[in-house]
Amino acid sequence: AKPKKVCVVGSGNWGSAIAKIIGNNALDKPELFEREVRMWVFEEMVDGKKLTEIINTKHQNVKYLPDIALPENVVAIPDVKDAAKDADILVFVLPHQFVRGVCNQLKDKMKEGTVAVTLIKGFDVAEGGGILLISDVIRNLLNIPCAILMGANIANEVAKENYCEATVGCKDPELGRLHKSMFQTKYFRIVVVDDEETVEVCGALKNIVAVGAGFADGLGYGDNTKAAVIRLGLMEMVKFCEVFYPGSQQSTFLESCGVADLVTTCYGGRNRRVSEAYVRTGKTIEQLEAEMLNGQKLQGPPTADEVNVMLKNKKMEDRFPLFTAIHRICKGELPATKFLDCLKNHPEHM
Ligand code: NAD
Ligand code: 13P
Ligand code: CA
Repeated sequence: AKPKKVCVVGSGNWGSAIAKIIGNNALDKPELFEREVRMWVFEEMVDGKKLTEIINTKHQNVKYLPDIALPENVVAIPDVKDAAKDADILVFVLPHQFVRGVCNQLKDKMKEGTVAVTLIKGFDVAEGGGILLISDVIRNLLNIPCAILMGANIANEVAKENYCEATVGCKDPELGRLHKSMFQTKYFRIVVVDDEETVEVCGALKNIVAVGAGFADGLGYGDNTKAAVIRLGLMEMVKFCEVFYPGSQQSTFLESCGVADLVTTCYGGRNRRVSEAYVRTGKTIEQLEAEMLNGQKLQGPPTADEVNVMLKNKKMEDRFPLFTAIHRICKGELPATKFLDCLKNHPEHM
């Protein structure tokens, strides 16, 4: 087979770190991948210069992944249609709120045989009050297959090449092998499973739990409380899959995309950090996101909102008290000090 042309759709903190990995793998495996890896960059000015020009000359995303060298075969392109033109593999890695807009621009522009992988955590709100998986948004709008990669992968740590793992969800074994060869490195170890939905749902939901972990930290309750939040969060993740995505395998929760991602995000993630500040400062989440993250985006609070729309619609809020309390605290409908009260009568304890 001809070497595959890869386009990374997104260039934030994780997008840039994954472009580094794919770029290096393209250099190491010319029989599998074309040398040039394109990266779509949402253009903006940084210190009076276009970010694409900075990336293409300095080979660094100075705004979203500073101090990390990107391989020179990663080429930044400001127009997503140009970037994705003729791609064999599209790697979607952008904040989930932007995925529909980007896919709409790519609609009917894909060549025959193009496949996608999504690294995006979150849900899309469906008409009628349900939710859609982001992979389904990609599949539906672009009419291409879409695998999933999720894991305990704080981008800055992966970019430094600290050992970690990730899970690829892919029902097609041949595509699974291709994706593994695109992502795996000596320090980034990939396990492929066929339980696609569970992989993706775990990745989305753990960001809600991380917001709760941040609240517990902000309230100053210590490690036992945070462990309880993580455990109840995991139980709600499992329950959520049982109710809305039946057929998941328990073993998937033990992969990197499950417990491991939950733990790392509840300790080291952005959602946790901003949520702690929310409790301590009383500023809004939006204000803190803007002040603390320099353009990076939180996925937890919008995901809590998306999940809540559906739970409310189905009158199931009380079966997911942790997700529900976190959503209400983010919205300012409930003071953070009431967070643990909402967990005292958790269905887990009844
Ligand atoms: P990020 O949080 O760094 O977000 C900033 C990116 O969003 C920038 O590239 C910016 O140009 C872009 N952007 C801003 N406005 C936009 C618009 N209107 N349209 C399109 N793009 C716009 O992004 P990230 O860290 O790469 O995260 C992408 C996805 O990967 C998220 O779903 C996240 O949960 C997931 N993820 C992140 C990490 C991590 O540690 N950062 C790890 C694993 C998974
Ligand atoms: P945050 O967005 O909370 O930083 O989480 C990053 C992540 O998804 C790690 O896998
Ligand atoms: Ca299913």
